[in-house]
Amino acid sequence: MPIKCIGILTSGGDAPGMNAAIRAVTRSAIYNGIAVKGIYRGYKGMITDEIEEFKTQNVSNIIQRGGTILKTARCMEFKTPEGRKQAHDKLVEHGIDSLVVIGGDGSLTGARIFADEFNMPIVGLPGTIDNDLYGTDITIGYDTALNTIMECVDKIRDTATSHERLFFIEVMGRDAGFLALNGAIASGAEAAIIPEISLEKDQLAEMIETGFRKSKNSSIVLVAESEVTGGAMGVAERVKREYPQFDVRVSILGHLQRGGSPTAQDRILATRMGVAAVDALMDGQRNVMIGIQNDQIVNVPFSKAIKNDKPINRDLLNALRISSI
Ligand code: ADP
Repeated sequence: MPIKCIGILTSGGDAPGMNAAIRAVTRSAIYNGIAVKGIYRGYKGMITDEIEEFKTQNVSNIIQRGGTILKTARCMEFKTPEGRKQAHDKLVEHGIDSLVVIGGDGSLTGARIFADEFNMPIVGLPGTIDNDLYGTDITIGYDTALNTIMECVDKIRDTATSHERLFFIEVMGRDAGFLALNGAIASGAEAAIIPEISLEKDQLAEMIETGFRKSKNSSIVLVAESEVTGGAMGVAERVKREYPQFDVRVSILGHLQRGGSPTAQDRILATRMGVAAVDALMDGQRNVMIGIQNDQIVNVPFSKAIKNDKPINRDLLNALRISSI
């Protein structure tokens, strides 16, 4: 059956570029003669009936804005069959026959369950600064967050250098080291401590044993927020105990990493993916996440994209190690 009305929502953690994706999905659907309805506050808005028809004007003047005009929320009821049934009933009332869900691993997990339960075509867009979805080289929001981190580290470096300190800067990533590793390369940091490698070896001990500060008076190390790495606080506590000769400071970048106007790359990525999501639905695709691989749009089955660890590129580790001697 051809698609007649697409519901669109953003869910989970917000990411810069989500608005550009909402805009592209809306305009592409309208361009193709399909109605679009914006669903507010993620899955919650399906249950509480916060649904509104979108015209092209609803998405004017948003491509440059961070966050999401549709708002986002976490919704516990959607994790229960009763909650999902309520949500589905509302979609039927509104004549919504398909969905585009923009979010991270959790949101796409919910989408997959919902699609199976109600036999509804759903296409996901990877919207997360963490870049932790499998099957896509990059996710919407990642490039902006990376640039924000780079700017922050540039500023912290002024203090690190003036006071000859060792700074541990914690960045987001929810158990993925992409932001920490590439942020470290981009800002000229001395090292990155990331969960993928923490499982293999003691990165802190190695860093100190290889004399990472021999040629330098100050150092910056990016630490991915994760139980595995211990976070920047955990690492700093260890240094104070085991290597008391260092003057250590911690900076946790926190939520400022998620905000701000999206970079050109994120706007373009979100626009391409939004258009591709509507194409995929028209093409009869279902239960896929739109990804990008080698600059080509691809459809990745939810089963692959979710709960599948995306490996860190080892070339990057090498580039950081060599460039920071
Ligand atoms: P993200 O999408 O950024 O990973 P979350 O993990 O918080 O964010 O998930 C966002 C929302 O997706 C949850 O609040 C919930 O409504 C839905 N969701 C997550 N996991 C499931 C699940 N196993 N079953 C149903 N819904 C889920």
